[in-house]
Formats: sequence, structure tokens, C-alpha cells
Amino acid sequence: MTLPKTLPSLFLSHGAPTLPLIDTPARDFLEQIGRELARPKAILVASAHWETAQPAVSAVETNETIHDFFGFPRPLYDLRYDAPGSPKLAGRAAELLHAAGFACNIDRRRGLDHGAWVPLLLMYPQADIPVLQLSIQPHAGPGHHLRLGRALAPLRDEGVLIIGSGSFTHDLSEFRGHGPNDPAPAWVDSFSDWFDARLTGGRVDELLDYRRLAPFAAKNHPTEEHLLPLYVALGAAGKTMRAERLHASATYSVIRMDAYGFTDAYDAQRFHGGRPAAVTDDVGHA
Ligand code: ZN
Repeated sequence: MTLPKTLPSLFLSHGAPTLPLIDTPARDFLEQIGRELARPKAILVASAHWETAQPAVSAVETNETIHDFFGFPRPLYDLRYDAPGSPKLAGRAAELLHAAGFACNIDRRRGLDHGAWVPLLLMYPQADIPVLQLSIQPHAGPGHHLRLGRALAPLRDEGVLIIGSGSFTHDLSEFRGHGPNDPAPAWVDSFSDWFDARLTGGRVDELLDYRRLAPFAAKNHPTEEHLLPLYVALGAAGKTMRAERLHASATYSVIRMDAYGFTDAYDAQRFHGGRPAAVTDDVGHA
């Protein structure tokens, strides 16, 4: 991907918490994209691992590292990501959400869960860029998260990197017994291929209805929380979004680690020289 100067929004698959410790193509990708992107002024992460009844943004001076998992190797619990927060940006994000008709709480204690710090540790190991999190609402579905992203889109022009952190596929009932570099079975790849074609084709209407339309949708996502951050990133590129796959791989066979960059079609045209895909959706304004 030729990366535009206005920051794209990103969907990243964060994988198992051990991702920083294990040699995989997905780890290499995250290290590389951190070097290739223009340096953001701040980072906002919508993480699959922060679920609340209504949207919330974190607003702390310094982020604590939340080790929100159990039974992993000891060195994982020693990893820290003490990035500064940005209460000011949290206020700005809440303001944008309120203006779009959302309720939004400001959480003055929440640190970074592994959905945020695992990819950021690889992308920006110095931990010197302010980071805040946005919670997701698993009961509210894809359209709600697309609208959250759209409401936050102006932050991209203010130098904020918007990341949705989840997993492209996430059936954890099937990952035991597999190694970190085992290839994906057909039921995982067919879902991923369907989703990729709709993303790169701008078929937002079908993406919003993926659970009915995509092959093996409920099998790959028994619950939706690891896919919903993708819709935030997609929405943050605006109504003329263009999606590009930045990475594709599988880990533990059933967890696809695919990543996408979303740009406004005007940026994309400028930097890719092509015509933007027609975006169709029925989500309307928030
Ligand atoms: Zn996760």
C-alpha cells in the first residue's frame, strides 16, 4: 500500500496475547507498518476487549498496562506499554460523538487492554505517542460501530491514527492443538475471502448484513466483539471510503490476522491514481 499523508484508519487483528513473543508474519507486519506510517500525533483504539453498555473513551495522564488474560507464559506479564494518555483528545472525541447523537462516557481510570497494547508495542515500541481507547457495544451490531467511526472521522485530519483492533476470524473453540503458523481451513478462508471482496469492493451494505450473507459467519465469529472494531475503522474513512488489504495470514489455524487500511477515496485517488470504488450502504447518518 502506498500510504497517504492523511493517516488511514486501520483494522488490525491482534491475535493471541503472545503475539509479541512469537515469530509470525503478523508480528513482522505490525513492526513494519509502524515504521511506514507517518507518525501520528495521537492514537485512538477501538478494542474488542473493552465492552460497555454505551460508548466510552479513556482519559488518563499515563496508561496502565492491563494484562487481561490468564494462563499465559510469565514473560508476557512483564510486558508493559506505558504510553501517555490524552484527556484533551478524549474530550474532543466525546464532543464529536455527542454531536453525532451518541451518549459517551469519559473513563478517567481505564488503561490499555491487550487489544490496544499488543499491536502498539510492535508498531511504536517507544510508547511515546498518546493513546486513548474507545469501548465497543457488542449488543449494538455493525451499523452502530460504523456510525461511531464516521462520527470520529474528523480526528484523522487532526493527526490522530484511528485503529480498530479485533480479529478477522475468531473461533476460539477450534484453536487448541494448532501451532502459531498453521494454515487456515477452508471454512475460515471462505469467510475471509467473502469479507475481503466486500471490503475492497466498497459493499458496505453487504458488510452490515455479513451475519446473514457471509459463509460460516457465525462459525468464525460466535460472538461479534472481535469484528465490530473493523466497522469503527471503516466508518472513520468516511462515506467515500476505500479499503485496502495490508496483510493476510493465519495463526493457530483458525485466527486470521488480516489487516486493512481505510482511506477517504479522495486521498486514495490522489495516492493510488485509480478511481474510488462506489460505496453503497444504507446506514445513513448517525
Ligand atoms: Zn482479542
